[in-house]
Amino acid sequence: MSKIGFIGLGNMGAPMAINLAKVGHKLKCFDASADAMLATSRHGLASATSFADVVEDADVVILMLPSGSIVATVAKEILPVMKKGSLLIDCSTIDVASAKSLQTVAAKFGVHCLDAPVSGGVGGATAGTLTFMVGGSAKAFTVGAPLFEAMGQRAVHCGDGGSGQAAKICNNMLLGISMIGACEAFSLAESLGLSKEALFKVISTSSGSCWSVNTYCPVPGVGPKSPADNNYKAGFAANLMLKDLGLSQVAASQTHANTPLGAHAAKLYKQMVDEGLGDMDFSGIITQMKTKVTTDAKK
Ligand code: NAD
Repeated sequence: MSKIGFIGLGNMGAPMAINLAKVGHKLKCFDASADAMLATSRHGLASATSFADVVEDADVVILMLPSGSIVATVAKEILPVMKKGSLLIDCSTIDVASAKSLQTVAAKFGVHCLDAPVSGGVGGATAGTLTFMVGGSAKAFTVGAPLFEAMGQRAVHCGDGGSGQAAKICNNMLLGISMIGACEAFSLAESLGLSKEALFKVISTSSGSCWSVNTYCPVPGVGPKSPADNNYKAGFAANLMLKDLGLSQVAASQTHANTPLGAHAAKLYKQMVDEGLGDMDFSGIITQMKTKVTTDAKK
């Protein structure tokens, strides 16, 4: 069993840390928020008093933080203190360039590094069913594998450092686009007088079939239970979708990739967030479409 330092005990990090402790790993946890540390300590996890305290004895340090700039700031504090030959796993969703630079800086300190963003949300983090998209050396991936197993159901080694983040933003760009597509199909069906039940039956077994319809349908009352059945309570909040679409557009512009639908999806989610709906589930973008259609019709 590994000695693990865990930094970032928010909605995702706390349940991930708890799942690692459940299978017997020895954890020390740290967060900038005293409340977050108190909450995990109630589950029997040890709290650290500083960055040095959380990492100095650790074989593996896991980060679950909000952004690339925060990851870089924390890395600056911890890398000089981490044991040579230990492993740093960054599970935060951050931009590809920052993930690559983290690999380079970690190597200078003799620390192995993996970028390992996740899919599955808070539900997956709690149930231990996350999917990890992992970038870094095969050797580091082998060391991280049992930890991914404790926190998730699947870990895919995507390639060198940065490729986990690349996979994450490509997946979420497609998810954002396909959710908007699903919402448009159901909105058009409503305007045409076609029932949502009939459309769900057709799409879910036809060529338009996709996760956004089959598993996470944006209209209530059809398909498996989804946030649409709970008044669009997140789930995966629109502001997190906007964050990931933003990262995809930064990566596209840095690499001169052509992603017009990704760019448009980012614009639509920005409108949703700007209208104060950032905490709503991202499938709630369908409510925006309905408002827009009604408003436009009145013009
Ligand atoms: P969160 O805001 O709930 O948690 C982040 C935690 O980091 C907070 O407890 C905060 O106090 C702590 N923190 C911030 N700056 C710090 C610092 N300098 N030092 C120590 N601690 C610091 O966020 P979350 O929802 O847990 O998401 C974490 C990461 O996972 C993000 O990168 C997010 O994009 C990604 N993600 C989230 C979800 C989701 O559904 N919430 C799904 C997939 C991926």
